Amino acid sequence: MAVASLESLLARGVRGRRVLVRSDLNVPLKDGVIRDDSRIRASVPTLRRLLDAGARVAVVSHLGRPKSTRRPELSLRPIAPRLAELLGTGVSFCEECVGPVARAAVEALAPGQIVLLENLRFHAGEERNDPDFAKALAELADAYVNDAFGTAHRAHASTAGVTAFLQDVAAGLLLQSELDHLRVVRDPKRPLVVALGGAKVSDKVSVLEALAPHADALLIGGAMAYTFLAARGEEIGTSRVERDHLDDARRVEAAAQKHGRRLLLPTDHVVSQRIEAGAPRRVVRSIPEGWMGVDIGPETAARYAEEIAKARTFFWNGPMGVFEIPEFASGTESVARAAAESGAVTVIGGGDSLAAVNQLGLGGRMTHLSTGGGASLEYVQGLELPGVAALER
Ligand code: ADP
Ligand code: MG
Repeated sequence: MAVASLESLLARGVRGRRVLVRSDLNVPLKDGVIRDDSRIRASVPTLRRLLDAGARVAVVSHLGRPKSTRRPELSLRPIAPRLAELLGTGVSFCEECVGPVARAAVEALAPGQIVLLENLRFHAGEERNDPDFAKALAELADAYVNDAFGTAHRAHASTAGVTAFLQDVAAGLLLQSELDHLRVVRDPKRPLVVALGGAKVSDKVSVLEALAPHADALLIGGAMAYTFLAARGEEIGTSRVERDHLDDARRVEAAAQKHGRRLLLPTDHVVSQRIEAGAPRRVVRSIPEGWMGVDIGPETAARYAEEIAKARTFFWNGPMGVFEIPEFASGTESVARAAAESGAVTVIGGGDSLAAVNQLGLGGRMTHLSTGGGASLEYVQGLELPGVAALER
């Protein structure tokens, strides 16, 4: 089933109609100052299209984790002026997101005007997907657009429940573009090469299990690699390892083997005694006692780069080492450069992975940078996202 597109909603006509837009405006804020406005920027195209078409737009979002209480430092108020700047039009703010005050604020909009409503998660009903709260949101509008890909894997009132009460729904442009690009990983031009790294196996067991039988080559890096190596009985020194996930690692290896797929582990390592800039480091094949793996070694990096060069589709989540420390960033950099030069369709997901790619100035050379960490991992493994299912008509 396909999700209803924004174009189809616009074709039905939105002039003068109230449209509730669920955006992801969950930006890092410190003392009311926006540290990174990329999520606000990403929400602009959909809002712009709707405003140009004469819709009366009410935007809702969550911000942080207020745990169902009104936390003034998690108010969306500081977002309104930045959104206004980026849209090039005034954005009013309403300190409620449901109820008579919010309804009046939306009612007061003229065609082409927009109001930002307060943090959805000030209400317990949002994360609980409470039908009464979903209904209260639906009462604000005549149509609903979901553009919050980053929360599409959560069945919350504003991402899922609300569509039970509002029949005229559509996917926003950002959400649509995420689905279009991530679908390519599910149904790839082969060879499909996948690189998975980052902090923990436990975060990514299900994506490992889904992609091991699917990817032509699965390249493992990051701290995750040491759990795999430990599961094979190799010495890993004081490397970060999850002892209670050794069986998961074995299962993933078995799944790859059963389907005739290749799973590659590092064969050399950058090791250090501390995760700290300036700490002594060495390149080794087997990790000595008292030392920990902090990056894939140069031989592994070259081998991974060769695999990526052969790919027609490349998906990457999770840095290959502790890239925050420049001396431990070369493995991650090699993978990023190989991806940029590969000519493959390159899809990158995960907050830290994106930070690494952007830090290297290579963001613009990738086909797609996914804005939704958890959601993108769930989607590429073939799971149904509640926020997407709710838009299928
Ligand atoms: P993403 O946000 O892209 O999904 P993760 O959050 O899973 O990535 O992992 C990123 C973190 O993993 C980084 O903070 C990085 O320092 C850490 N990491 C990578 N390799 C290692 C390692 N060998 N030892 C300890 N931490 C590591
Ligand atoms: Mg992360």
